[in-house]
Amino acid sequence: MTRPSLTWHDQAACRNAPEAFEGPGPKADARALCQVCPVKAACLASAMIEEGPDDEQCRWGVRGGLTPGQRAELSRIIRAVPTQRRPTEDPEDPEDDQ
Ligand code: SF4
Repeated sequence: MTRPSLTWHDQAACRNAPEAFEGPGPKADARALCQVCPVKAACLASAMIEEGPDDEQCRWGVRGGLTPGQRAELSRIIRAVPTQRRPTEDPEDPEDDQ
């Protein structure tokens, strides 16, 4: 019986190909793997959360199909989008701010 997958890491296309992500320089092999990875979105979301909004934050390696520079640019784009309240929130209700 096969053990069920517990996390998105278990389904990562790169889990058996770490060499594609090692060393300096362009990572064409890594990015090609990411393009067919079934958990690309989860991987990118995880990277964006872990790396945070700080442009000076150390970003390295290809994650979610994006280079560190591309993720930094994505972070800047996300921060430039105005935040909006969800339609169900009541701006007068202090409970909605929690
Ligand atoms: S998207 Fe790329 S870096 Fe992320 S888990 Fe998949 S193959 Fe690995």
